Amino acid sequence: MPSKIRRDDTVIVTAGKNKGTQGNVRRSIPDKNRVIVEGVNIIKRHLRNDPGLAQSGIVEQEAAIHVSNVQLICTECNEPTRVGFRSLEDGRKVRICKKCNETID
Ligand SMILES: [Zn+2]
Repeated sequence: MPSKIRRDDTVIVTAGKNKGTQGNVRRSIPDKNRVIVEGVNIIKRHLRNDPGLAQSGIVEQEAAIHVSNVQLICTECNEPTRVGFRSLEDGRKVRICKKCNETID
């Protein structure tokens, strides 16, 4: 099953404290059904003061969120939508927008 959300997609968060936030998908982790979305679910990590590390102190980075908490924004109709799949004649599977039925890939 190909993943519904991929890197560089624009998504909107539909649940949790970042609900309503839009961002680009920086990373997709299909094995875990999770995605990392730019600017969403920022966590602060405390780094130990290790001389071997170039950076120390507190860093902020995005933590992965579950794909069920985001919706893809269709590039055709600009609406948050559910994603479907369609098989092309050459056997490739492409994503389609369930709102406008256009191919997203
Ligand atoms: Zn659409």
